[in-house]
Formats: sequence, structure tokens, C-alpha cells
Amino acid sequence: MAQYAAFAALSARNVGRRFGPSFSCASTMSSAPGRLRPPGWPTVPGWGHHGTVDALESPCRVCGSRSGERLEAGWACAVCGWCVGEFIDPDLPLPRVDVVYYLRRGSSVKIGTTFNPRQRFAALAHDEVLAFELGDRTMERARHADFSEDRLGTSEWFDLSPRLRAHIAALAGGRDPWDVHARWLADALRKARGGSL
Ligand SMILES: [Zn+2]
Repeated sequence: MAQYAAFAALSARNVGRRFGPSFSCASTMSSAPGRLRPPGWPTVPGWGHHGTVDALESPCRVCGSRSGERLEAGWACAVCGWCVGEFIDPDLPLPRVDVVYYLRRGSSVKIGTTFNPRQRFAALAHDEVLAFELGDRTMERARHADFSEDRLGTSEWFDLSPRLRAHIAALAGGRDPWDVHARWLADALRKARGGSL
């Protein structure tokens, strides 16, 4: 799957390159008290600590970003928050993150759900990914009901009305939707491996 492309680059010789194999950013960061996060942000170690931002030696294993942030316990990816040196077991099943997406084409928006947005969008003609929202079919149905007045026929496409535009803007919060998605993926990976968030 495309969003896991970074996993393919994982190799044992790179694990712990900077901090050693026993380094655990998540467990170290969980003891740090009272980090502030904007409302709606997933819990990410070190969020709110505006440390030095610099290029990482190698791309983040979760999202592929090369932007890193210096935290008290070490370096973390500035995009998804994954800690540099934190091991990802390539033999374990990857976590599933269901999202509701808002995909614009012209003046219409498709509201749908997927756990593999890159693959899904490859099959959908569109102009722009506007936002993601954590949720599965239940959330998708709720959003279809919320914006039923803007629905184009019986399709999953909706007129980009001021109300829908405001909803999407609130979800996106001015952030790159893919950065938000990468954070959720990193959080799911931490949960799957039993780490603290
Ligand atoms: Zn990352």
C-alpha cells in the first residue's frame, strides 16, 4: 500500500542508528507532564513543544518526511510525530485507520470512507483532498445525513455549500490533510505496538 511505502525502506541496520536499539521515545515522552495540544489533534508525544526543526538523517519510517523536531527525549518526525529510532516490526499486521474523506472536484465534494485513501483516490477523478475525519461507515452515514440538503441526487457527491465549506474548514484547521492522516497512522502504530501515546 502506497502510504506504507516507507516501511519497505525499513532495515535492521538503520534501527536505533541515532539512539541505540533500546531507545524508546514513546515511553520516555509519556512521563513528560502537561503538554498542550490544539483541540482535535491526536495525542502525539511532544506536541506543543516547539523545539528545533531540522532535516532528519533518513526519511521518517511512517510518513517519509525528512523534517524532524528536536524534543527533550530525542528527535521526532515533525509531520507525524514518530520518534526517530523507534522500531517498527515489519512482520506485524499494519493498523487500520478508517477515515471519512472530503474530496473536491470542481464545485462538488465527495464524502466517503476508506482505510486506504491513496489507493482509493487513485481510482477517483478529483481536484483536491480537502480534509479527513476519523470515522468509518457510521460517521460517513451521519455526514451524509448532516448535509442531505446539499446532496447531488443519490450519489456520494455534495454541493460545496457555505455550510459544508465551513465544516471542512473546521476539520482541516489550515493543516495539510495528509499530515493529519500521517499523525493518526503513527498513533495507531504506537497503540498497536503497545506504546504510550
Ligand atoms: Zn513521519
